Amino acid sequence: MHDEAVEKRIIVALDYPDQSSVLTFADSVSPDLCRLKVGKEVFTHSGPELVRALVDRGFDVFLDLKFHDIPTTVAKAVSAALDLGVWMLNVHALGGSRMMQAAREALEQQGGGSKLVAVTVLTSMRDNDLAELGLKMPAGELAAKLSGLAMQCGFHGVVCSAQEARGIADQCGESFLRVTPGIRPVSPSLGDDQRRIMTPLQAVDGGSNYLVIGRPVTQSVDPVAALLAIKKEIGEDVGEG
Ligand code: C5P
Repeated sequence: MHDEAVEKRIIVALDYPDQSSVLTFADSVSPDLCRLKVGKEVFTHSGPELVRALVDRGFDVFLDLKFHDIPTTVAKAVSAALDLGVWMLNVHALGGSRMMQAAREALEQQGGGSKLVAVTVLTSMRDNDLAELGLKMPAGELAAKLSGLAMQCGFHGVVCSAQEARGIADQCGESFLRVTPGIRPVSPSLGDDQRRIMTPLQAVDGGSNYLVIGRPVTQSVDPVAALLAIKKEIGEDVGEG
């Protein structure tokens, strides 16, 4: 079932090694087809100018820099990100509620309709990875706890595993966004670092609002065809293809 507020659910993670690969992909798709995510790799090699270039082309850009620092620093980083015109940005919920409140206040000061979401538990982490850090709670429980905290801090939603999306919607309400990486189409499956994964359709049926998809698209022989196939799988309009 598709909620109307979110028709363009796929956010392509542009984890490319250089600016020209990013722009080649961006120029091969229309902003009507998908949103784009700029993460640490691309931001580190190509910086804010590339973010502006994508925004200028009409894309909704999710700036995925996962801020995690003292509250003042995070608030200033959030303001700087909003100046770039990004549609969505995030911080780590593990930075704590004072840090998240500072981020939210920075967003309020700026006005505008950008979405602020908190990373709960990275989808590459399993319970034993958390235990190694002294975090004894199972990943799903910790994600739920951090989602509640992010909601109290006035966030629009969280980045979480698709496996946790339904529970978080039940706990925090349907309008609290669930942005889910760790999406793997049934075939071909990639042997990579994601652990708590789901297929695109399972993710949508399981309560994800937005699907963050990187390598299954960007490392495909034909990235646009891979994107269109996933859109079809989840019942989105692919136009003329
Ligand atoms: O290639 P893949 O589909 O695994 O890409 C997932 C993207 O989502 C990456 O850019 C990664 O940094 C990001 N991400 C994630 N887990 C989170 C938050 C973001 O995998 N919890």
